[in-house]
Amino acid sequence: MMQCLSISPRADLIVKPRLLRHLSLILLFLLLVLGCGYAGYHISDRAGIRALAENGERQLELNARAVESEITKYTYLPSLLELEGNVSRLLLAPTAYRRHHVNQYLAGLNERSGSLAIYVLDPDGRVIATSNWEQADSYLGEDLSFRAYYQDAIEGRPGRFYGIGSTTGEPGYYLAHGLRDGKRIIGVAVVKVRLDALEERWQRALLEAYVSDENGIIILASDPMVRLKAVRPLDDATKERLARSLQYHWAALEELQLFNRSPLDDGIEQVSFATAGTPTNYLLQTRRLEDTPWHLTLLSPLQEQRSAAMIHGMLAAVAAALLAFLLIAWNERRKVIATRLAAREALQAANDELERKIAERTADLQASNERLQAEVREREQAETTLRKAQDELVQAGKLAVIGQMSTSIAHELNQPLAALRTLSGNTVRFLQRGALDVASSNLQNIGELVDRMGKITGSLRAFARRAGDSGEASLGQAVDAAVLLLHPRLQRTSMTIHRDYLHPEQDDVRLAIEQIRLEQILVNLISNALDAMRDQVDRQLWLSGSAEADCYRLEVRDNGPGIAPETRAHLFEPFFTTKPGEQGLGLGLTLSASLAAAAGGSLTVRHPDEGGTAFVLTLPYPREPQP
Ligand code: ADP
Repeated sequence: MMQCLSISPRADLIVKPRLLRHLSLILLFLLLVLGCGYAGYHISDRAGIRALAENGERQLELNARAVESEITKYTYLPSLLELEGNVSRLLLAPTAYRRHHVNQYLAGLNERSGSLAIYVLDPDGRVIATSNWEQADSYLGEDLSFRAYYQDAIEGRPGRFYGIGSTTGEPGYYLAHGLRDGKRIIGVAVVKVRLDALEERWQRALLEAYVSDENGIIILASDPMVRLKAVRPLDDATKERLARSLQYHWAALEELQLFNRSPLDDGIEQVSFATAGTPTNYLLQTRRLEDTPWHLTLLSPLQEQRSAAMIHGMLAAVAAALLAFLLIAWNERRKVIATRLAAREALQAANDELERKIAERTADLQASNERLQAEVREREQAETTLRKAQDELVQAGKLAVIGQMSTSIAHELNQPLAALRTLSGNTVRFLQRGALDVASSNLQNIGELVDRMGKITGSLRAFARRAGDSGEASLGQAVDAAVLLLHPRLQRTSMTIHRDYLHPEQDDVRLAIEQIRLEQILVNLISNALDAMRDQVDRQLWLSGSAEADCYRLEVRDNGPGIAPETRAHLFEPFFTTKPGEQGLGLGLTLSASLAAAAGGSLTVRHPDEGGTAFVLTLPYPREPQP
């Protein structure tokens, strides 16, 4: 519980900055995407509007020229009537005949020029002659002195006027000219033309445009709905004045509802207004028409351009998102590569460290190997020295045994020598007496005695000889040789030797040891048994052999007094002896054990319960010769 309490605040501290970092990254990403989207939209919108404005400018110019030429086409027409003498005459002295004549002339002229009507007003503003004199709604006799064009023309200014006919209710463009007689204005000639053709042309070209007059009233429009609407607010005085002038007949002159007007450039505005219910955005471009107080306005819908800008904005947002993802992916990849590089470097460092350690360890190993080799060499040297010493010891032991035996050997040799002396003396005497038989028998005995002495010295020589570690021995021969060597002692101290070692299937047992060495071991063991049993009457020695799995086991047991427990542990120690004076050197068992070990066998001691001592000699069999 304590642990939980102490750990949880730290976990919070670790988690929070990471969460905050992630959240701020997401926020940044969203801001970037939205920002780029907006920038894309804005730039595209700006460029789109600029392109639309440039195109609109051209369209405006073209259409303005078209409107101007349509209007100026008729400007000369009213002034033409000044040249017509009939018209002047009618104005100066009106008669029915003259009126009729002028009426016919005006009708013909109107037909040819394609205008709506051509008529002449007297100085009071009354229609004196007209092209439509024959029609029911003829202007003839009508007082048009209230019309602005009349007032301008009578004062010598060109009358230009758009209005709706007070008689016909038909909209038209009025061009008036003051007709002079000399310097005096005697009347006004008026031509009324229709401008519907322009509207039709705009409609066909799917162009949204209108022409507003000096009062701000739309007089021509591609959309009939906006016709006779005010493009700017009209104050009450103006409204009243216009109503009185009947310029627009009885039209309500409502204001054209323009929303969100925002001026972009000189003569360019961005507006939205509803024509058929839904408000639409337009680029509004206006240009004044030459020689008139009118303005041509072109409306370019912004819908398509706005959609394109929207798409561009979205594309920019998508591109930004893609770029951000690419950047994130690149960053992640960079991180992965950096981690991999760091791991590779760490691995390299670990590898270098390992190689350095291996080199160090190898050097150590080499050093210790050299040390070991030196030690091995030392050991080998020591072994050689030891072996040499052992050989020397063996030799010394043998010589010691021989030394020990020297008294008995001398005795052994002295006996036949004494016998030889006696026999040879007797033989000389028998030869002198001529007793050749006895002499010959004596000589034979002498020969036998010499043979025996030769055998004794031969075995002594063989015993004293140095021998090697390898070789092969016959157990039977070795026992015989040992017994022969110890014969003098055995004669003095009788001992029954029980031989129970022969191989059941063979006459002999072959063992892997030098013959002399085996003899030496046996001499030592038998001689020790003899020494131990010196003071007893019944002396028995059992030589019993048994074939083990991989070696031969020979037990040399006596019925002597056995070995005291306190001396048992020291038996195989060099120079350990219980024998008094110079009788014992304490090397016999040590040498015998080392000879057995050198041959790959062993020498141990057993203390039988029934008494006596048993030495157990194990030796390997000689190796079978390889085929
Ligand atoms: P040494 O014969 O010169 O004393 P050994 O090494 O041959 O030296 O013998 C060591 C001692 O072992 C002897 O002094 C003796 O006390 C004891 N020993 C050896 N063989 C026997 C035996 N068969 N019975 C009793 N004691 C023995």
